[in-house]
Amino acid sequence: MHAALLDLYALTRPELTALFARWEFSPVHVARLWNYLYWECADSLSAMPKLPAKVRRRLAAETRLGVLPTALETDSSDGFTRKYLLTLADRANIETVLMRFTGRVTACISSQVGCAMGCVFCATGQMGYTRHLTPGEIVAQAMHVQRTLRPHRQRLRNVVLMGMGEPLHNYEAVMQAVDILRDTNGLALGAERITLSTVGVVPGILRLAREKRPVHLAVSLHAATQAARAALVPVAQKWPLDELIGACRTYSQTTGRRIFYEWALIEGKNDSAADARAVGRLLHGLPAQVNLIPLNPTAGYAGVPSRSEAAKRFQHILAEEFKLPSTVRQRRGLDIAAGCGQLAVR
Ligand code: SF4
Repeated sequence: MHAALLDLYALTRPELTALFARWEFSPVHVARLWNYLYWECADSLSAMPKLPAKVRRRLAAETRLGVLPTALETDSSDGFTRKYLLTLADRANIETVLMRFTGRVTACISSQVGCAMGCVFCATGQMGYTRHLTPGEIVAQAMHVQRTLRPHRQRLRNVVLMGMGEPLHNYEAVMQAVDILRDTNGLALGAERITLSTVGVVPGILRLAREKRPVHLAVSLHAATQAARAALVPVAQKWPLDELIGACRTYSQTTGRRIFYEWALIEGKNDSAADARAVGRLLHGLPAQVNLIPLNPTAGYAGVPSRSEAAKRFQHILAEEFKLPSTVRQRRGLDIAAGCGQLAVR
């Protein structure tokens, strides 16, 4: 595989149209190619017989299709989660997860190899940062999931950028991939269907707001005071909690969107009644939903997940005292190490 060749998965439909115009090929062939890529999930040019030979020859000479081979595939015992370890052209591995909850099929995809944010409880953070993914490598993960669904006449309905990496640290590539995933003649994922999860990269949140990007935003909070948050999420030293909340307020005011606030529940660390009240006060007046996720244990961090009684108490306080909606996420797929980065570390 020649990584230097243009990856077809990295191109929006207008970019592909411009390329074909330069090559003096009819726009009809763009429509056919796009259909092969995003409807038929073709995995090679040889699986595109309706493209004329001269078009395929030119594509073969100057482009590549960045389909990602699977190094490892594991199913959780409850059948709700399938995790793929996919291999990039430079032999690095990334994780993509297919999740089936309440009938919805969601792909959790990665935006970087490793991560520079260093959250202490996260397997990817413990790996460190290697590089950004390209737009094509991000799109290829969604297409990998869609290709596995197609024989079952199912379609990918949701994408969450919650896999390895901090998506707002790789802003340009992620937004290019979002544009491709949203294309109405392709996967056609609506604004409500793509969620980007950040650990609190303030300039990225403000840019999302300015550009009114059609995505949902999830912000990993994990602690409601600056000192406690900085101990879990080192990036909080650069972008303190008050700045983060200010950026979230701007984002919600500008876009009219509610933000999901993620809270990894760690026993004895951030799961007390006082912690719940601190969250309630912090998010007061903001359009918010809190997602409580019992911690995924990792080898590099001693913390353990909160018990279900603590999670219920937390949720009850948010609802009763602050009228703040919340969910407690199931830690599905734990037996396949479905916390981000855990398969790659292994
Ligand atoms: S939790 Fe997300 S942002 Fe933090 S280190 Fe892990 S991948 Fe990076």
